[in-house]
Amino acid sequence: MKTEVIPIDPLHIDATDLEQAAAIIRRGGLVAFPTETVYALGADVFNRTAVEAVFHAKGRPATDPLIVHIAHAEQVNQVAARMPLLAQQLAAAFWPGPLTLVLPRKESIPAEVSAGKNTVAVRLPAHPVICRLIEEAGVPVVGPSANRFGHTSPTSAQHVLDDLDERIDAVIDSGPTLIGVESTVLDVSGTEPCLLRPGGISLEQLHSYIPDLKFVPAYLNETSAATGPGMLLTHYAPRARLMLYDGSRDAVQIALIQGIAEQQQLGKSVGVLIIMDNPTRYEQAGAKVIHAGETLESAASGLFRAMRELDSQGVDVILADAPPASGIGLAIRDRLIRAASGQIIRVH
Ligand code: AMP
Ligand code: MG
Repeated sequence: MKTEVIPIDPLHIDATDLEQAAAIIRRGGLVAFPTETVYALGADVFNRTAVEAVFHAKGRPATDPLIVHIAHAEQVNQVAARMPLLAQQLAAAFWPGPLTLVLPRKESIPAEVSAGKNTVAVRLPAHPVICRLIEEAGVPVVGPSANRFGHTSPTSAQHVLDDLDERIDAVIDSGPTLIGVESTVLDVSGTEPCLLRPGGISLEQLHSYIPDLKFVPAYLNETSAATGPGMLLTHYAPRARLMLYDGSRDAVQIALIQGIAEQQQLGKSVGVLIIMDNPTRYEQAGAKVIHAGETLESAASGLFRAMRELDSQGVDVILADAPPASGIGLAIRDRLIRAASGQIIRVH
């Protein structure tokens, strides 16, 4: 199938273009759309065939549940059986925004959406295009990240095409996404809230509502029964091998220079992905360098683009520096650790 690109300016949404995308959703097709986090792959949540097509297009195992996107808070009642008090408070505080709540599932949505679980993940995104699209389509829309399974998430329409061209009906192009890492996933369906994935809403922000919340990474092996793709150890990965360094600023800088030399001696073309650092010394050492950002926020926004760019420059190995775990740094570290298949090179 030919994948149509539908440009839509989020500040001046063209009703005809939006209707074209909504019609595709209504007839069971697949439309990739922008959110404030990353681009997602949309389909009618109530259409089982369309939901199955989302798994197929991504190459995603049927055991990995999808996040459902809604356009206004009341719409949660169409997909969740109930909204616990804590969920109501969190929704009031952080929606629209990058917080996904795992809630008891309503029986009326296809079990495939939740990979057969009795819960459903829901969020209200802060992006006018997807909210208008959901309203026009008249149904909540599933929206996993619009990449091939296990690969780096897309933060532009071109990234979506790089992974899914000719596998989906259309992609809405509204320019690069703002936040750049996926939503925070919080399970509030049981007695104890559980942070499943750090993301656009920080742990510190959640502490105002859940003071003792911690992130205990449940990194699982590919072979074990994972609860979702974000739980798999190797995920968000570029094609090049990613080696992640963690330690003091000075120690990491020295280790990166050494690492470049070692890889070059092995005949490898080396890329370096830095955050809040100066590229010059690594360029002088002969590496291709991408600076993801000068702040943690801009680094989150530029992280996946940096991985994709280094891949397209054909490097064999990417050396990366792990940022501090504060604020959105926790989400960046999580993505880098998974992109490095869980291996961290600790330097002092
Ligand atoms: P993605 O679709 O790429 O944004 O990833 C979706 C994330 O949401 C994965 O990390 C899943 O584990 C998580 N998720 C979705 N639905 C559920 C659910 N019902 N229970 C637990 N986690 C979920
Ligand atoms: Mg994903």
